[in-house]
Amino acid sequence: MNGGISFWYADDGLPAVREPLSGDAAADVVIVGGGYTGLWTAYYLKKAAPFLQVTVLEQQFCGYGASGRNGGWLYNGVAGRDRYARLHGHEAAVRLQKAMNDTVDEVVRVAGEEGIDAGIHKGGVLEVATTPAQLARLKDFHAHELSYGEKDRELYDARETAERIRVAGAVGSSWTPHGARVHPVKLVKGLAAVVEALGVVIHERTPVTEIRPKHAVTPYGTVRAPYVLRCTEGFTANLKGQRRTWLPMNSSMVVTEPLSEEQWESVGWAGREALGDMAHAYMYAQRTEDGRIALGGRGVPYRFGSRTDSDGRTQDATVEALREILVRFFPSLAGVRVEHAWSGVLGVPRDWCATVTLDRATGLG
Ligand SMILES: Cc1cc2nc3c(=O)[nH]c(=O)nc-3n(C[C@H](O)[C@H](O)[C@H](O)COP(=O)(O)OP(=O)(O)OC[C@H]3O[C@@H](n4cnc5c(N)ncnc54)[C@H](O)[C@@H]3O)c2cc1C
Repeated sequence: MNGGISFWYADDGLPAVREPLSGDAAADVVIVGGGYTGLWTAYYLKKAAPFLQVTVLEQQFCGYGASGRNGGWLYNGVAGRDRYARLHGHEAAVRLQKAMNDTVDEVVRVAGEEGIDAGIHKGGVLEVATTPAQLARLKDFHAHELSYGEKDRELYDARETAERIRVAGAVGSSWTPHGARVHPVKLVKGLAAVVEALGVVIHERTPVTEIRPKHAVTPYGTVRAPYVLRCTEGFTANLKGQRRTWLPMNSSMVVTEPLSEEQWESVGWAGREALGDMAHAYMYAQRTEDGRIALGGRGVPYRFGSRTDSDGRTQDATVEALREILVRFFPSLAGVRVEHAWSGVLGVPRDWCATVTLDRATGLG
């Protein structure tokens, strides 16, 4: 299968869509976009101030964007950390990093407390090197992370790496405990249900065409609020006046059929770490709850004119390239079927310079 939003929806089912907005309305806070950004914001607003009237306006359904399509790496990467350190000082960046480490545990905690079964397994993140150049980058990366206070990160040689996972040609790896595998759609569906139960009003199939100060304008009416939060990430270019605010960047994934016991034995990966590498166009992967490998990376060509996708179809050449990475990593899986491919959009700054930190923190190959 190719498209159909993502494998995660094929696995867990598309949601029943909530009622659209049906006329002008008012709220204390209106949130445009029902992905992780919008829904977590709604969650913490309601927890901090339960009396607030919070309305979420979502063009399709909650989790339609990257939040329902991603690789399920819940981890502690900070986009632009070095720049942050330059602007605010090293100690501030260390505190930010610490907050990101804690965020992984916070998501795990909230999911547990709120009864969201998101297939979470906290096995950390393992990043492997498979060439001498990658090993040099890995060591630099490792040292850099330690300099931001990650005292519990570990560096492994080839033998120690193979004890965790048998990636062909792996010469070393760096592991942090601050990472978990999640089922992205179970997380976003669960979060939407939780915020709704807290009293947040969610309108789906409600595209916001324009955000003006204190107004979110839709074809069905306008919601007025002192605060309007734009949480539209890779879709921002579709909003009036925002065409060039963020670059919509496509990223693709594939997932295999479930692997047999023997195949898992050949691979290892008992710790179910989120897995990445040190290539410039790097990969990211997870061992799914139901025993598959989901793998993304390398990016896909820019869609001319900043167009964003809808169904999530990905090009055959991209699927083949991801399959090649899978087989290069695990030659014993050469005969394994890729069952589903899909893509999604992230929003990245137009002046983006591809520093390793930013690359890693945005999940783009
Ligand atoms: C293939 C892929 C793999 C990734 N892997 C990882 C990973 O493993 N780990 C990681 O940390 N990150 C990963 N990411 C990035 C991560 O998924 C996103 O950064 C994150 O989900 C963004 O959440 P968001 O809520 O800001 O945006 P989105 O999830 O895109 O949500 C935005 C929402 O706003 C809605 N919307 C947009 N415009 C309007 C409008 N005008 N009116 C109303 N609603 C609107 C959309 O329909 C959408 O539901 C990946 C991304 C992709 C595409």
